Amino acid sequence: MLFLSASLTVYVLSLTALLGLVAGSFCNAWAWRLAHHESIARGRSHCAVCGHSLSAGDLIPLASYLALRGKCRYCGAHISRRYPIAEAVMALYFLSVVLRYDFTSLFTTLRWLFLGCVLFTVALVDWDTREIPDRLHILGILLFLLRGAQEGLSGICSGLLGAAAVFIPLFVLVLIADKVLGRESMGGGDLKLLGVLGLHFGLALTVLLLILSCITGLVMGFLLKHTKSKDAGLIPFGTAVALSAWPVILFGSPLLSWYLSLFSL
Ligand SMILES: [Zn+2]
Repeated sequence: MLFLSASLTVYVLSLTALLGLVAGSFCNAWAWRLAHHESIARGRSHCAVCGHSLSAGDLIPLASYLALRGKCRYCGAHISRRYPIAEAVMALYFLSVVLRYDFTSLFTTLRWLFLGCVLFTVALVDWDTREIPDRLHILGILLFLLRGAQEGLSGICSGLLGAAAVFIPLFVLVLIADKVLGRESMGGGDLKLLGVLGLHFGLALTVLLLILSCITGLVMGFLLKHTKSKDAGLIPFGTAVALSAWPVILFGSPLLSWYLSLFSL
């Protein structure tokens, strides 16, 4: 549907990028409020330094940051580069999902777009606090219902089996590793996140996700070691899982089919 005509393609992709920018701005604000134990539903957006309420003109994704040259309009404090970067990343994510899935299967496209928002918020909160609030897991589970709407009972059953097949052995492994190491090997939030993603991906793709997450986590650990961050010794594994889900959403299924085809005669 997306490529019916050039003008339609440009229109849909521009709209998608715009929605992605707005989603990135929302996820960033949501993550900040979760990390600071503030409700997203209450209170207007405000400057983190002077506390001044922000007007609609201050909240236009990317454009406000560029127009204000990265400074608060009221106190002149520098606005973190994280805001425009988060907005641009989500615009790229939205574009990649729409280009990959088109709208032939609307529920699938919507599920990956909404799940991407939840995962991006997970990535930001876990990076800031090394914790993942349970409400983000619950949202991930609710989005699994979209898989049911698209694939029916078989989709629900395969998701539940995938989640159980991922969560139970991993839970046992983590318990053993905790005992052997004498410390927490994987946070409870990370474990729950992998269980929730098991619902969406099924067993095989979640194993692929786990491998990618470990590689991403190791790279992050290496990079954090060279910073003066107070949390340098703690790898934000939830962030690694959430970021690694992006390539799995886009290319996991074709990659798995290719891998399995190597063993078929
Ligand atoms: Zn300010």
